[in-house]
Amino acid sequence: MGSACPAGSGEREAFEAARREMVERQLRPRGIHSPQVLDAMLAVPRHEFVPADCRAEAYSDQPLPIGLGQTISQPLMVATMTEALALTGRDRVLEIGTGSGYQTAVLALLAGEVYSIEYLPELAEAARQRLARLGFANVHVREGDGGLGWSEAAPFEAILVAAAAPDPPPPLVAQLTEGGRMVIPVGCGVYQELLRIERNAGRIRRRTLDWCRFVPLRGSHGWGQTVPAEVEGGLAGRSRQRPGGR
Ligand code: SAH
Repeated sequence: MGSACPAGSGEREAFEAARREMVERQLRPRGIHSPQVLDAMLAVPRHEFVPADCRAEAYSDQPLPIGLGQTISQPLMVATMTEALALTGRDRVLEIGTGSGYQTAVLALLAGEVYSIEYLPELAEAARQRLARLGFANVHVREGDGGLGWSEAAPFEAILVAAAAPDPPPPLVAQLTEGGRMVIPVGCGVYQELLRIERNAGRIRRRTLDWCRFVPLRGSHGWGQTVPAEVEGGLAGRSRQRPGGR
């Protein structure tokens, strides 16, 4: 990663302090233990990925708007999904829903190569330019329907889907290697289940990690024109309350 941060040294130190606080107050106490994931969260300048008028809130415990009705995911959600992928440093990773490119940058520090697909051309272009400016050389961003995967680059050891789907898209499951892992929010309610899927000996194991709120997955394996109203209001964060819970 380069040092293209335009902030002056005082501002840079303030952002670094905010990042340390994010790790110590939002991530570690809430179950993020992987030193590699915590280091990556400490290293990526989240303030570079939010709109200029949100910079002061860049390290707060929430998703933030990035335009076109989309959000940059809550830091805890980024760390939770990244940790669940158990990356080794050499993996080829597919990400669906580049958004701002923040999650892409975190993955890039922990993976061999990251392939990221964004549905909205404007966001894809902005993220591509931002990641290049910040010196992330092992990322490939393209616009398109991520539900179809990236067959030319498949298979992947890990797949991260950052938008809520009705079900895990079959083309993505098919693009996992043996032993490959996928994290994906699934469901049609206000809250979705954050699923971890692992492919082993031809079998698919599914486990629920948490509840979350995400923006809807568009395209052929997403919600099409019939996004349920509950999913439409998604945010890309962890739910504070479980459905039916206290
Ligand atoms: N993790 C990102 C935020 C993701 S928000 C970040 O931290 O900035 C979810 C993104 O998924 C949105 O940008 C949305 O446009 C995109 N998206 C929705 N459906 C998609 C699809 N079928 N293929 C690719 N991207 C999709």
